[in-house]
Amino acid sequence: MSFDSLGLPEELLRAVKEQGYTEPSPIQTQAIPVILEGKDVMAAAQTGTGKTAGFTLPLLANLIDGESAKSNQVRVLILTPTRELAAQIHESVQNYGKNLPLRSAVVFGGVKINPQMQLLRRGVDVLVATPGRLLDLYNQNAVRFKQLEVLVLDEADRMLDMGFIHDIKRIISFLPKQRQNLLFSATFSNDIRKLAKGLVNNPVEISVSPRNTTAESVTQFVYEVDKTKKSIVLTTLIKQENWKQVLVFSKTKHGANRLTKQLEARGIRAAAIHGNKSQGARTKALAAFKAGQVTVLVATDIAARGIDIDQLPQVVNFDLPHVSEDYVHRIGRTGRAGNVGEAISLVCNEEFKLLKDIEKLIKKVIPRKILAGFEPGTPLPVSVLDTRESKPSKPKKARVGHRDGQRSGAGTGSRQKQRSSRNNFVG
Ligand code: AMP
Repeated sequence: MSFDSLGLPEELLRAVKEQGYTEPSPIQTQAIPVILEGKDVMAAAQTGTGKTAGFTLPLLANLIDGESAKSNQVRVLILTPTRELAAQIHESVQNYGKNLPLRSAVVFGGVKINPQMQLLRRGVDVLVATPGRLLDLYNQNAVRFKQLEVLVLDEADRMLDMGFIHDIKRIISFLPKQRQNLLFSATFSNDIRKLAKGLVNNPVEISVSPRNTTAESVTQFVYEVDKTKKSIVLTTLIKQENWKQVLVFSKTKHGANRLTKQLEARGIRAAAIHGNKSQGARTKALAAFKAGQVTVLVATDIAARGIDIDQLPQVVNFDLPHVSEDYVHRIGRTGRAGNVGEAISLVCNEEFKLLKDIEKLIKKVIPRKILAGFEPGTPLPVSVLDTRESKPSKPKKARVGHRDGQRSGAGTGSRQKQRSSRNNFVG
């Protein structure tokens, strides 16, 4: 299969070639023709599958023929949970759309709103936005949706996790009823299905690399270690193995800061990114990590979401995540697009239950190692794979005839909690 057979115009094929892509990824092969036809799509796809090009390329193609955006109007709205992800999607829109006379912009919180208002004044064909800032702009009359043709919800599961459901529904209520809807989510929980019912209309369902499997290109290990020895074991591994670029996941912001300080004190250049860091500090840390000036980037799950670093060789779970699916997301940061990667988890006895849940989800027992000199005082029990079926998580067919701003009935208690956590990340 080549890009040429997907029905994309020549301007886009040229841009794709310049990116160095030789053939479309599975999600691109499936999504591009369907989106070109103007159909709604519900796709189960994680970051790293090439989904951004999967929706951006056909959307740009469809924009070529229509009337360009008038003052303060938007034709394609892409909503996404974090600033980092918004910036990355916008970069893709610019790269793929470089040969087309289309205008695009990205807006997110944590930075001044005035320059964004100015950008929108001329109208933009494609707007990438985080929900909170988009609502602020709407409330200030800086953006209008009369010309809106397509709504994309990217990483919908994360948006719900971060408490954006209410904001998303408000935004949807402002949009014209007649439009194309694309919903991308790594997982299809009940909440996502409820959201989808009020959103997509007779969607084409796409699911790539069966969810919750981990890529073959990622080698996984568990290091058995006592809790108090994790930091010194990590330091030793980094030095012994001469790791140059390591993304480390920490459960908490506080833990991320503490570990960063410990690594620095032992002569390893490290930086932390999490929701309490300013946008400037996060951008700076990511840039230093990408440039190789910082060896270790310690991140919380939400801050790390969507970080796209080509050929990231090493991912470390300093703590195991409480939600097993997050393990799959985390290690999906490495071994991308044909590169090999290694994901190691430092696991103490107290985390055995979490490890068991993860192994059940990914349907394999992760090989164990012990670092010489750091044998755990309390060893981990032996894993026996639990082969009972987990709940199905494929996207289900949404009911036809339910569109636009319909309430999903999410619990208000959890919404309150989620909204306050959302405020930490996107202004
Ligand atoms: P995404 O899943 O959209 O975050 O994309 C993951 C990575 O794959 C990005 O770095 C893209 O530049 C890259 N990519 C997207 N499509 C292709 C392709 N067809 N061939 C090779 N790399 C690709």
